[in-house]
Amino acid sequence: MTDRQTIRCPRCRQEALWQDNPFRPFCSQKCQLIDLGRWAQEEYKVPGQKLMDPDNLLEFPNERD
Ligand SMILES: [Zn+2]
Repeated sequence: MTDRQTIRCPRCRQEALWQDNPFRPFCSQKCQLIDLGRWAQEEYKVPGQKLMDPDNLLEFPNERD
């Protein structure tokens, strides 16, 4: 473990750590959900696969490794 790789959030352009970042490549859960939500809603429609329901964002379950 020598370097701490950083990424730039594709959503808000802030820098975020890659390591120990469960929301990568985003900086936060918020950005991740927003982006995935838009991706699922506006650009892609995957039949029968409901990964992110925008209505459930506030009740998003805790994700832990
Ligand atoms: Zn962000």
